[in-house]
Amino acid sequence: MTDMLTPVLTDTWDAESSWRLDTYLAHGGYEGLRAALAQDPSDIVQLVKDSGLRGRGGAGFPTGMKWGFLPPPDGGPRYLVVNADESEPGTCKDIPLMLASPQHLIEGVVISSYAIGCHHAFIYVRGEVLHVYRRLLAAVQEAYDAGYLGTDIQGSGFDLEVTVHAGAGAYICGEETALLDSLEGKRGQPRLKPPFPAVAGLYARPTVVNNVESVASVPGIVAKGADWFASMGTEKSQGHGLFSLSGHVTRPGQYEAPLGITLRELLDLAGGIRAGHELKFWTPGGSSTPIFTAEHLDIPLDYESVGAAGSMLGTRALQIFDETTCVVRAVSRWTDFYAHESCGKCTPCREGTYWLKQILHRILDGEGQPGDIELLLDLCDNILGRSFCALGDGATSPITSSIQYFRHEYEAYISGTATPPDPRLATLFD
Ligand code: NAD
Ligand code: SF4
Repeated sequence: MTDMLTPVLTDTWDAESSWRLDTYLAHGGYEGLRAALAQDPSDIVQLVKDSGLRGRGGAGFPTGMKWGFLPPPDGGPRYLVVNADESEPGTCKDIPLMLASPQHLIEGVVISSYAIGCHHAFIYVRGEVLHVYRRLLAAVQEAYDAGYLGTDIQGSGFDLEVTVHAGAGAYICGEETALLDSLEGKRGQPRLKPPFPAVAGLYARPTVVNNVESVASVPGIVAKGADWFASMGTEKSQGHGLFSLSGHVTRPGQYEAPLGITLRELLDLAGGIRAGHELKFWTPGGSSTPIFTAEHLDIPLDYESVGAAGSMLGTRALQIFDETTCVVRAVSRWTDFYAHESCGKCTPCREGTYWLKQILHRILDGEGQPGDIELLLDLCDNILGRSFCALGDGATSPITSSIQYFRHEYEAYISGTATPPDPRLATLFD
């Protein structure tokens, strides 16, 4: 089964002091940069386009195409901003990557900056993970000391400064324009798009915002070629990706595999559902994606197949829940998160997530009223597509999909016949 894995980003994670520059170099690190600096920047953009790499932060937007949206140089600055604000519930791939192999990201930053003509790049790290921030600071310093950052990188004449910035711990600052506002020192709230950051981003200058895993995937593409990358995955969802398995699974963790692998195959690699239990529901891409059930075990985990089955690949955060989990309680806990993290800018999300939370709480408290399920669905209908950014839409996904598959569990609470949630779950979720 392990031949289904494609360890590229995870290749060195088990090596001693995997986060050190020496270790990275001993495993072929910075070969991609050497190859890149010998080429014209436009060739690197074309290479990334040809590879089929799509944004690994969740949306799956083609990375090379995004780079191609930058307007022609006008003599002013242009920026690369790495979105390292990983906060989607269940999503836990970028943080391990930055801890285990920060040079992978830094090499990707240098190559990507060279390709788009950027001389000052930023890595915006989630505020709660100070240990990651410190590791990145140390790794960036190592790269400066070895001549992989700074002036005249490796004698190429290319200059690049990198600033690592820690946010203050708001989920909304993972939305790229809120992130840019936060980086500028303002309150982080989404901006109206268009203009997209490619045209007017950081300090109103052309800016590429890319996810950690997307940027870290670039060195491999440059070193081994677009065809190598495109040979993995499916026709439209190419390459390798980190699949994060968490919850009621025997061996939770990161599984790096081609896009298009199925949960059944991943569970085989991870030792299956914990002994004596069976799969009840799961998220293909974090809590903002509609949940799946055991009937979706064989859906290829690529953008197209997951979308056709009614969900989204998102961040490949596969949260696995067995039959001991109360789906209403899990959804209520996620909804608490969205209500707490709503930035308050638009009414449907600010008010709607609060109302959703209140209704779910009263259902769980045994005070649900006939019509509450329809009320939840009506509220979701008024949030979805009417919110200013994806947070509002995402908040509705677990509710509508759980009602689709587990309506009887909601009805049991409302009619007073539900077994109260296992008290151990209170510890798990609160
Ligand atoms: P989006 O589809 O609006 O945009 C994706 C990217 O493409 C952006 O960088 C955007 O600027 C760019 N883009 C799109 N159209 C463009 C155009 N015409 N011109 C120039 N650039 C263009 O998605 P989004 O709102 O940025 O992200 C939503 C996704 O974020 C969700 O699918 C979710 O999976 C993911 N997400 C991830 C996390 C996390 O922790 N990693 C947290 C929450 C949500
Ligand atoms: Fe803020 Fe929510 Fe509106 Fe997004 S959808 S702008 S998070 S209130």
